[in-house]
Amino acid sequence: MTTVAENIFKFKKLLGQETRLVVVSKKKTNEQILEAYQTGQRDFGENRVQEIIPKFESLPKDIQWHIIGHLQTNKVKYIAPFIHLIQSVDSESLLAEINKQAAKCNRTISVLLQLFIAQEETKFGFSEIELEQLILQDPEKKFPHVNIVGFMGMASNTENQNQIRKEFQSLQKFSLKMESLFHNSNPNILSMGMSSDWEIALTEGSTMIRIGTSIFETI
Ligand SMILES: *Cc1c(COP(=O)(O)O)cnc(C)c1O
Repeated sequence: MTTVAENIFKFKKLLGQETRLVVVSKKKTNEQILEAYQTGQRDFGENRVQEIIPKFESLPKDIQWHIIGHLQTNKVKYIAPFIHLIQSVDSESLLAEINKQAAKCNRTISVLLQLFIAQEETKFGFSEIELEQLILQDPEKKFPHVNIVGFMGMASNTENQNQIRKEFQSLQKFSLKMESLFHNSNPNILSMGMSSDWEIALTEGSTMIRIGTSIFETI
């Protein structure tokens, strides 16, 4: 039997300084989240606005909240005052709305651009062509209240390790190719890897992993 705290320490030890651990706390209770918080963990990820709001309101204010799931434009206003990082920006209209709501709050909101790398129909994200076109339009200038700090991707839900590796490699390659197109920001975060595939993600250059199951499953 391992505890949440022990699981977190295990990950922190394996990751070292270069890779950030985001604990995915969707469907977890405040009590479970506090158990993680007490180890010093501050980055938590949620995929639903309805769930992140009551957690933000009731949990310690130094938690850095991440949105990791598809975000509807009409919900941005609810999280704009406090969100630390929106990892799942998958359209220009969403980017425009984040910019607008951030301006209203006098903030600059950090975001990751989500690239579609999987072979499934179900995952959100830009295609490489769409994302390259967006970046060529100088989004830093167009959306001054948004800070693009990197890229995010989800690999296919498959047993095929080679497939997963190839998908992570494509994201890493794409992010390197895009680097020179940014003038002011340095989009060096590469968010890839979850409980089932973080080891592959790490060898392919991930700097941020998003882990839920492996931390909260205390068997
Ligand atoms: C749920 C979720 C995770 C965490 O998945 P686990 O398998 O529980 O580690 C990571 N990223 C996203 C986008 C998720 O929705």
